[in-house]
Amino acid sequence: MITLLKPPSTDNYWKNGVMPYQVASLKGYLSRECDITIDDLEIKVWMFNRLNLNNGIDLSYYSYRNVLSHLLKKPDEMIEEYSRKIIRLINNLKNPVIAFYVENSEELLVVLTIGQILKKMGKSVVLVGAFFQTISCALMKKYDFIDYIVFDSGELSLEYLLKNKDPKAVPNLSYRLNKRVLLSQCSDIISQNLIPMPDFSGLPFDLYKKYNSQHFGFSSLVLPYRLSQGCGRDCFFCGLPKYNYFNVQKPVKAVSELKALTKKYKTSKVFFYDNSITFSNSYLKLFCDQILKNKLKIRYVAFAHYSDLKPNDLLKLRKTGCLALCFGVESVSVPSIVNLKKNKNLHTISDVLKNCKKAGVWTHIFVMCGLFDQTLGHLKKDLLFIKKNIENIDSILINQFQLLIGSDIYKNPGRYGINKVSYTLAPYSRSLPFLPVNRKATSQYNYYFKAIGRLRIPNFEPDRCLSFLFNESRKGLMIDLMKKRPVLGSEGFLKLCREAHEQDRT
Ligand code: SF4
Repeated sequence: MITLLKPPSTDNYWKNGVMPYQVASLKGYLSRECDITIDDLEIKVWMFNRLNLNNGIDLSYYSYRNVLSHLLKKPDEMIEEYSRKIIRLINNLKNPVIAFYVENSEELLVVLTIGQILKKMGKSVVLVGAFFQTISCALMKKYDFIDYIVFDSGELSLEYLLKNKDPKAVPNLSYRLNKRVLLSQCSDIISQNLIPMPDFSGLPFDLYKKYNSQHFGFSSLVLPYRLSQGCGRDCFFCGLPKYNYFNVQKPVKAVSELKALTKKYKTSKVFFYDNSITFSNSYLKLFCDQILKNKLKIRYVAFAHYSDLKPNDLLKLRKTGCLALCFGVESVSVPSIVNLKKNKNLHTISDVLKNCKKAGVWTHIFVMCGLFDQTLGHLKKDLLFIKKNIENIDSILINQFQLLIGSDIYKNPGRYGINKVSYTLAPYSRSLPFLPVNRKATSQYNYYFKAIGRLRIPNFEPDRCLSFLFNESRKGLMIDLMKKRPVLGSEGFLKLCREAHEQDRT
């Protein structure tokens, strides 16, 4: 019997009202064999804080410094109190195994403090997630309250573990034997086609609806879904786990599951969590055909790669309910990025953005700054590119380059002309400060982007923007309003959308 949790994150950045996908997918898979309860502590902490305005759980207190000092030196009263409050929010604490599906170091900070208390309560503490691929042993050695770490998406490993198989035979597992930390054999993840439909039951649906209603103006659920696992590309800065093969669901299975899920959870809003929904033109065509053939009515948002998107592809995507695509443009001039996309050219990006607009698809782009080989000249070229294409860009998010454990530049700095990498944070942090970071270029970027605000580009959290887009009827209105307004921050944008919503209703 196991309770599987989505932990709260110390980072507000990705906070949204979308349900956790992998937790529900694991429930769908494991419930055939065992008793599993799932819960989302992130949305619960949010609600707890809303109800206890002066006595909430301050996640910003979970800094690296505070958490490390609490775990390794002297217990911190505040962290102890907050962690106990979080534990009280867990749905089913009776189960002997408490597992956390962890996706980043901001979640891990909270998980470690809760895990320590749960272990004292006699629970078996299991951490799950491909995030742990390169750090599981180091973590187990440092924190003896962790019983197991599964460093893949969890299906087979959790199933075997719960069936009490010898840890040696459980794939992708860190475990203890005679006080030594050992690794089981590494193995490929299970095919997406063998995983049953995700089961979201047990999650606090009312809280998501409340969150969406308060933040985005609609009170239905947003369904996360994934067509593929892994990524066919190999960006040097990417810290996402690399699987040995790219794992794709058959379009027939995906569409039939989406049909059942949208009916069961009474929503048409879908958020595709694939690293890129445009991984194959032929797949995309088959998927869209299946949607149309089955008369599946969804409205969706997805990440995409711009390389092979033709006008007809975009029209077809729009016809099947695509509201927005998010592209990782990063930079059109910094050598390390441009070399990565050497077979592409600026016309491709511009054309895809233009064609999205023509098809009625919202365009969101990610820009990266602070790269080690970025100069002021590159910066200006990037901004020029944005200015030229501004009519076809709906929103932008600027990311700061970070050295991520597992990325190619982390493993092979010499390949990029870097001789020395120094760290200041704990060795389990996936995002480490990168000393050769071009801080000057970063601050210039921010400065110039403020100036570009005159062009009225809202720069805000993508999920907020994306969730708004699900209010499809308001989309045209939102864009028109934005054109009439001066510079908007995220708050300004939210206000604007609320106004648009009001106007739309009257
Ligand atoms: S950054 Fe995106 S496209 Fe590049 S390897 Fe990572 S997931 Fe794939």
